Amino acid sequence: MSTFQNRQFKLSSRPAGAVKRSDFDFVTAPASEPGPGEVLVRVLYLSLDPAMRGWMNASKNYMPPVGLGEVVRAFGAGRVVASNDPSLAVGDTVAGMTGVQDYAAAKAKDLTKVDPRLAPLPRYLGALGMPGLTAYFGLLDIGQPKEGETVVISAAAGAVGAVAGQIAKIKGCRVIGIAGGPDKCRYIVEELGFDAAIDYKNEDVSAALARHCPQGTDIYFDNVGGEILDMVLSTLARRARVIICGAISQSNHPESIQGPRNYRSLLINHARMEGFVVFYYAARYPEGMQALAGWMLNGKLKAREDIVEGLETFPDTLQKLFRGENFGKLVIKVAEE
Ligand code: NAP
Repeated sequence: MSTFQNRQFKLSSRPAGAVKRSDFDFVTAPASEPGPGEVLVRVLYLSLDPAMRGWMNASKNYMPPVGLGEVVRAFGAGRVVASNDPSLAVGDTVAGMTGVQDYAAAKAKDLTKVDPRLAPLPRYLGALGMPGLTAYFGLLDIGQPKEGETVVISAAAGAVGAVAGQIAKIKGCRVIGIAGGPDKCRYIVEELGFDAAIDYKNEDVSAALARHCPQGTDIYFDNVGGEILDMVLSTLARRARVIICGAISQSNHPESIQGPRNYRSLLINHARMEGFVVFYYAARYPEGMQALAGWMLNGKLKAREDIVEGLETFPDTLQKLFRGENFGKLVIKVAEE
């Protein structure tokens, strides 16, 4: 039996609305021994993703729901402390699905070896990880941006939005970000190079869209759904593409999702709206990773992480995403590197 003590968050009831601490059991047990082809990972950082809330619902999704009594599903990055697979050695750093716990036994083939000398470890959970790949494939594959086009992005200061906006700039587009509050708006313009920002908490979004997108919106990268989606729909240009990446404004009430009212704008403008899940692009991850790392290396892609200390903070830290309290990719630091 392993000598490592493993603290774990297990789902004890399906959350109604926002998650509460009482939806989880926080337990300690000896870490599992890695089986054949597996390694044991000491989790150092955990990724907090809006999708984690959806995975806790019983309803149909692109992945099976987290079962009651199971460790909460999450991406993480950490160090291999025991290995039963020749592809990974003790001491290697890896990223992958670890779950919300201190130690994860995982198949070596399901983990990605990452180099903490090239980028800080949390970045492999953000701009150089799943959120960065989401921005890459969503914008380029579905959005197909062309030089000079106007791109609008919501949750623009977040993990996915910030990368999507910078890629759109790299492709020669005019980029308008929508974000909550003056600090996030200043950040995306002054530090990330967006052309303009709309503070949806303090501005009239429709009026600001009309001002910033006089020729209409060619691409809308939608991370939030709800009212903002409707407002952007009414600004679409001919042949616009609306990328449905996420609907965080609707996450906590899945039983009463607000659909788009202005969908007729798609008809009038010969436009299309298309959703996607990053996992469907798994075969092309190496291409995405190479591009993201290249842009980061030559200074065209910047990233920011919001790091909260302590595994025990998990339920409340997850809620920061839905309250807009994270500034950059939200990560929990579980242990010292
Ligand atoms: P994030 O943007 O780093 O954090 C979430 C942000 O959403 C918050 O900081 C907040 O920013 C904004 N927000 C929260 N509640 C809101 C509301 N009611 N109305 C408007 N904005 C709200 O999170 P992320 O990881 O990058 O994820 C962004 C979106 O991408 C999510 O919808 C997520 O589900 C989606 N996603 C999709 C895929 C895929 O494969 N399709 C993969 C990864 C993520 P403000 O302070 O600016 O409000």
